[in-house]
Amino acid sequence: MSAVLDAAQLTRLRAELLRRRRRLDSSPGVPAAGGPREDIVHEVLSQDADEPSHREDERALGRALGGIERAELAEIDAALARIDADRYGLCIDCESEIPMRRLEAEPAALRCVACEARHEAAARRLG
Ligand SMILES: [Zn+2]
Repeated sequence: MSAVLDAAQLTRLRAELLRRRRRLDSSPGVPAAGGPREDIVHEVLSQDADEPSHREDERALGRALGGIERAELAEIDAALARIDADRYGLCIDCESEIPMRRLEAEPAALRCVACEARHEAAARRLG
């Protein structure tokens, strides 16, 4: 059970994630399950510090796989993995609780608003 969400909320968000995942999976240009996206999930999950070398890896992976859809799939898979690991709803950077409102708007959100803003600013600087 998640430290943050109750079972009903988790079930609802999990269903929403799976729905989005199916939609992405059925679009052209996305490899079938078992493709390289497991590696990305691992990358995202193993991320604790926002170290520059990791951001480089992430960008390289993103380029290699290509496309926003695959990045989104990776985020969804990471979110699902975090549900299984009872870590869903906690920011992967600072471990603070991600507000329910944010999760409902963006079920694949892995960071709180503050960390997401930092992350995106860093990505812009690099990209
Ligand atoms: Zn955070």
